[in-house]
Amino acid sequence: MVLTNGNEMFKAARDGQYAIGAFNTNNLEWTRAILAAGQATNTPILIQTSMGAGKYMGGYKLVQNLVANTIESMNITVPVVMHLDHGNYEAAKEAIEAGYNSVMFDGHDLPFEENLEKTKEIVKLAHAKGISVEGEVGSIGGEEDGIVGAGELADVEEAKQLAATGVDYLAVGIGNIHGVYPENWTGLNFDRLKELADAIDTPLVLHGGSGIPKEQIVKAISMGIAKVNVNTEQQIAWSDAVKEYYNAGNDKKEKGFDPRKVLAPGTKAIQDTVESRIDWFGTPSI
Ligand SMILES: [Zn+2]
Repeated sequence: MVLTNGNEMFKAARDGQYAIGAFNTNNLEWTRAILAAGQATNTPILIQTSMGAGKYMGGYKLVQNLVANTIESMNITVPVVMHLDHGNYEAAKEAIEAGYNSVMFDGHDLPFEENLEKTKEIVKLAHAKGISVEGEVGSIGGEEDGIVGAGELADVEEAKQLAATGVDYLAVGIGNIHGVYPENWTGLNFDRLKELADAIDTPLVLHGGSGIPKEQIVKAISMGIAKVNVNTEQQIAWSDAVKEYYNAGNDKKEKGFDPRKVLAPGTKAIQDTVESRIDWFGTPSI
């Protein structure tokens, strides 16, 4: 069975001080590129959709079928976790119904007690079906916080309480930010990561993995981060490769306007980026 909830994988990653990459898909090409990277490196991989990407593609059921069918048509043999990234309460329930292997319930905008209660409910629903859950404590900085040089920091006591809900992995704010990092970013907060890692055994998740220098990511992984989310990096790689195709006038050459030709360099660029991150994260081959 290629599709898996990944529980054992992420526990082993935390124990073994390596991480498994979580890569966002947006369409068929993205899906193929991410799966191809996992297969080429012979490593387990997590493929995820945001709520927005799920909506864009036509719903979670369609995405789940797309990933499952692509695994089959590409003869993928490495373990794959199909995951919902940053789901709200309703989205998490929908993805559970649609057959995802894993869902993130992101209640960080809610009052903490409500985040805790709703996380417990999602854990109960998901675990009854053998589906994993990622919780989130403390908010993670985003583009709108571009003027602030430090991302949010998770509160250790809140992290302990969320871990106690039985979540299978926990996203923690340690100064990380989504999207492009501002010039004045102060870096990851390793003191806070150490406090969190000492307090809880749950595999920890680092969001906003695009744009963090390699040495900081490697250090964070050695301290308890077992899942690293990377999204923006693939988007930039894709966009640059497609732009280069047009800049070189390739669309004017023989049938160069064929979408399959236009999209090929972008797809290759996504695969290359994913493979390079798998290398950074030290994910061992199976
Ligand atoms: Zn995130």
